[in-house]
Amino acid sequence: MVLESAFARQFEKNIRNTIRKFDLISVDDKLLVAVSGGKDSTAILYVLKKLGYAVEAITIDVLIGNYTKQNLKNIKEFCKEQDIKLHIVSFREAYGSSLCHIVSLIKSKGWNLQSCTVCGVLRRYLVNFYARKLKAGKVVTGHNLDDEAQTFMMNLFKNKKEMNARLGPCPGIIRDSKFVPRIKPLYLTSEKDIEKYSKEMKFPVKYGRCPCAIDAYRNYIRNMLDNLEKDYPNIKQNIVKYLLNNLDQWKKEVLKQKGKLNACKKCKEPSRSEVCRACQLLGFVKKPN
Ligand code: SF4
Ligand SMILES: [Zn+2]
Repeated sequence: MVLESAFARQFEKNIRNTIRKFDLISVDDKLLVAVSGGKDSTAILYVLKKLGYAVEAITIDVLIGNYTKQNLKNIKEFCKEQDIKLHIVSFREAYGSSLCHIVSLIKSKGWNLQSCTVCGVLRRYLVNFYARKLKAGKVVTGHNLDDEAQTFMMNLFKNKKEMNARLGPCPGIIRDSKFVPRIKPLYLTSEKDIEKYSKEMKFPVKYGRCPCAIDAYRNYIRNMLDNLEKDYPNIKQNIVKYLLNNLDQWKKEVLKQKGKLNACKKCKEPSRSEVCRACQLLGFVKKPN
């Protein structure tokens, strides 16, 4: 057992405060934590269990060779040790092949989409599907303050205000019973603190970056913000504060234009367009059992 430092106690307290501040969890919520084997999702899974919430974990194996093999091994070991029920779903069983293969098929159709975009859409689809099936009240993700500041800047530089309206500690705009709400309890926690906590707690996690993320636009923005923060220490916090100050207004504007969800014409899952993003990418998603 690891003896907790003052830093670790403060870290956990900050997360409790974030949950309260944004009213993220109700007492009877069953939580499904989406875990990847990285420090962020492992840390939030651990802290939520420690705070007494009813947690289960789900991991989507996107099959990136040794990288995901090692992550899966770590997640299994961690959940066993913490006595947390773990659900494992693989891209092969859900979509018939690995992420890399799916991305190369999509590129061969002339769509220049990055791995992370495809991975994000297809993983979210499965997590929502299983969260509903498992009757989870909320899906918890490991997104942190750095992720949120980066995503905001990425959208800003692409002039995508509507995408920024979908951010926040409870992301999304349109509520629908087929969408299990997602929450980000690490919303105000920096990546640096999460790494420090994870190392202090000796979590079995990999600290390197995913090999498929090498070409991601996010890397440019991450480096830019990290460099800026050397001279302007609170820059990421200020970006997130700015976002929070404007979020309600942006959501209202988007809701006015796109007030309701459709059922995807192909797979019947909820979608803002006639055909959901997953079916657009894959042609058709055969629903997992
Ligand atoms: S870094 Fe990108 S490709 Fe790798 S697991 Fe995350 S979203 Fe998927
Ligand atoms: Zn669909």
